[in-house]
Formats: sequence, structure tokens, C-alpha cells
Amino acid sequence: MSNYSDICIVGAGIGGLTCASRLINADASKNLSMRVFDLNATVGGRIQSRKIDGEEIAELGAARYSPQLHPHFQQLMQASGDPHAVYPFTQAVFHDRMQEKLKATLLGLSSMLKEHPEDSFLEFVSHYLGVAEATRIIKATGYDALLLPIVSASMAYDIIKKHPETQNFTENAGNQWLYATDGYSQLLGQLQRQAQAAGVEFQLERRLLSVEKSGADHILAFSHKGDTQMHRARHLIMTIPPSAMARLNLDFPANWSPYQYDSLPLFKGFLTFDKAWWQQLGLTDKVLMADNPLRKIYFKSDKYLLFYTDSESATYWRDSLAQGENVYLERVRSCLEEVLPLNGQPLPDIKAHFYKHWPHGVEFCLEPEAEHPAALLHQDGIIACSDAYTSHCGWMEGGLISAQQASRLLLERLAELTEESGSDETLTTSSTERA
Ligand SMILES: Cc1cc2nc3c(=O)[nH]c(=O)nc-3n(C[C@H](O)[C@H](O)[C@H](O)COP(=O)(O)OP(=O)(O)OC[C@H]3O[C@@H](n4cnc5c(N)ncnc54)[C@H](O)[C@@H]3O)c2cc1C
Repeated sequence: MSNYSDICIVGAGIGGLTCASRLINADASKNLSMRVFDLNATVGGRIQSRKIDGEEIAELGAARYSPQLHPHFQQLMQASGDPHAVYPFTQAVFHDRMQEKLKATLLGLSSMLKEHPEDSFLEFVSHYLGVAEATRIIKATGYDALLLPIVSASMAYDIIKKHPETQNFTENAGNQWLYATDGYSQLLGQLQRQAQAAGVEFQLERRLLSVEKSGADHILAFSHKGDTQMHRARHLIMTIPPSAMARLNLDFPANWSPYQYDSLPLFKGFLTFDKAWWQQLGLTDKVLMADNPLRKIYFKSDKYLLFYTDSESATYWRDSLAQGENVYLERVRSCLEEVLPLNGQPLPDIKAHFYKHWPHGVEFCLEPEAEHPAALLHQDGIIACSDAYTSHCGWMEGGLISAQQASRLLLERLAELTEESGSDETLTTSSTERA
């Protein structure tokens, strides 16, 4: 196998696969050799679908999208022909009249936002309601991140508007949410197969360690099953998130962007039971907001129960698992018994469970108001994309928009090179010639 590619894409999440898909369909790049590398054994990155009992899909990562908020992703889903259905969790169930309190607080304080441009959301709400009540009300949103000092009041309003569980408290109440009934992994598998059919080679289980410039090329060092493998590429697109970029020798972000980036952990825990006992409690297809580390509990049809947490609560579940699965399950059970109306009965036996902790689940730019370019360009010509560089950070929509911009940048460069050389012959480097 040759160790040279005209185009090398590092990362096989939706960003990397979108780049590959755009490039195989463009005249300027269709005769160029292309490889996609990823450290995982399968494509998808933060999109991972798993089947429960051979039928119902559980999404360990990305789960839902809104046609109103995510038009690019909606278009991709439509083009794929993959089946989709209404994502049911826009009806949250709250305790202690928190629903009314949350709604009244958000509505009542919205006109004061412009007076607190520098305040965190917690400072803003505390200013009017005191810290204890502000903390209680913000926690009721189900998102711990909204309590963090880095989340300003206007950012928090935006986040609340753009999440299915909380949009009902805002003018976005009418937004529709959908999910892929066969799982998003199906969509990514399709993109991979299309790329392979067009000659793109996938090299999985390869972790990029470093990149050096060598003349017009880039030399990439990958670790693969204990070995180090070198690869030479003329053009390089990095579709890995900022936290992964920062682990390379590329001086990220200093040599790339005037901005700083951060990430937050996410955790999803899935539980199945012999019977869908929550149906009798009227919880089917509802999300229950819990004032304990479970935070948001989703009851999916008659199939499974899922809790989804971020930041402090995600770390709590990771630490619980570090003490052993029994400790973890005992804590899950006790938190569920605390918030469910079980009339003193113990929680039914858990039949099976699985979970996923994402240390860098959501990645974002620390200056959300900045005019951030949708893709970054390094002085050595390397292009980088991530949802973190867009106003849709934390969403597949952002991954798509950024990858589309990254591909556009490369295609513009290829067009310029063709123009300079007067023929596209010189751009087509035979892999045998370079091997
Ligand atoms: C728990 C969770 C819930 C989410 N919910 C939603 C949702 O409901 N709706 C929605 O739209 N979005 C959601 N998202 C966000 C969505 O998953 C991301 O926006 C999207 O998947 C980002 O795609 P990407 O290709 O840019 O990055 P990634 O998916 O992170 O892909 C990057 C790839 O690069 C690889 N990589 C990293 N470093 C290296 C290296 N050194 N060498 C080789 N390969 C490397 C990784 O293995 C990965 O495959 C969620 C994410 C998580 C984690």
C-alpha cells in the first residue's frame, strides 16, 4: 500500500465524511487519491448508534435534530432517504411547580438582559432572585452547564431556546424535532460506502501523533497497534475537535485562531427492564427533570429509560463507575427511587444497562459572539473544521457547516493550482509514483 495521498482527511466523524463526500463529487479533486484516518475502529466519532433487543435505536452520542434549527442536516437526512420520526421529548415533567417558575423567570427577566452583558447566567438570575433560588431554577433546565461562570445570560437564553426539553419556555416552542429511527450510524455508513466506491481508502485504528511540513507535503505520524506509521500527504484536512487538535504538535490554537476553546463532558446511561412500568405512571415518551445527578430522565416508548447529563453530573457518573458498576447501579437506582412516584415500592429490577461517558462531549469557542470563521487555515496550508467553530457548536449541523467550508477552501486551492499549471494533469499524482 502506498504511503502517499493527494488528500488526507484526519477524523471520520460527520465532519470527515462530509469532506470526503464533497471532494469525491467535485471536478477539481475527483482524480486525486484520498485517505481518511481515524483512531477508532469504526467511523462516526461522536455519533454512535446501538440497537436494543435488535430493534429500538439508542444513540450514545448525537440523538436529535430540528429542521428549523438544523436545515443542512435536515437536507442530508432527506437526501439519504433514511427513515426518521418525531423526537418525542419536548414535553418535560417537573416537580414543585418548577415549570411555572422557570417559565415566569425566563419571561420576566428577558427584558433585563441588555443591562447585564458581562454577567454569567447565574449572576444574572441571582441579581433578582438570590443565589439559592437562582440555582434551583437554573438546575430545573436539566443542563448543569447553565450554572457555569463561562455561560453568560444571553448564551443561556440561546441554549434554552435551542434544546427540545426547554424550548417550550421560549418563542421557539413550535420547533419540530426529529430523530433517525435506524440510527445516525446508518447515515454515516452510507457516506463511508459512497466514498469507498469512489476510491477513498479508510485507515481506521490510526491515531495521529504529529504533523511535519516537508516541502509541499505534510508528513503525518500515526500510531497503529503499537507501531508508528508515516504517511505523506499533499493536502491535509483535520476534522478533529479543538481538544484533539491541542494534543498535536500544531500549536493549537495559537497558530490557528485568535480565540480560545473549551469542552464539557457528557454522560448517557441507558437502562432496560422486563416491563415498561413507566407507562402506568404516564411517563411514556416524556422527559422528567430530576433535582439529583440524573438531571434528565427520558422514557423511550416501551423500550428503555435513559438519563442524560453534562458537566458536574457527567463527572459524578464517571466517578461512580470508577468505584465499580455496583456502586454506579446502586446510585442510579436510589436517584430514580428519589424522583419517581413509586408509592414506596422499590424500582423494578434492571434487566440490562450500558452507558457512555464523553470526556469532551461538547466543544465550543469561549467567545461565542465572535465572528468565527467556519473553518480554520494554518500557515502551512492545513485546513481544520469542527462544529466548535460555528454558532451550532454541540450540534451535527455545526459539523456539517464547518466541513462544507473546509472542503470549499480546499477546492478553491485546487482550482488555483490548476489555473497556475494550466492543466489538471500536474495535480494528479499517481500513488505508485509517490510510494
Ligand atoms: C452525548 C452527545 C450528545 C449529542 N447530542 C446531539 C444531538 O442530539 N444532536 C446533534 O445534532 N448533535 C449532538 N451532539 C453533537 C454531535 O455529535 C457533534 O456535533 C458531531 O458529531 C461532531 O462531528 P465531527 O465530525 O465534527 O467531530 P467528531 O464526531 O468528534 O469526529 C472527530 C473524529 O476524529 C477522530 N480523532 C480525534 N483525534 C484523532 C487523532 N489524533 N487521530 C485520528 N483520529 C482522531 C475521532 O475518533 C472522531 O471519530 C452530541 C454529542 C454528544 C457527545
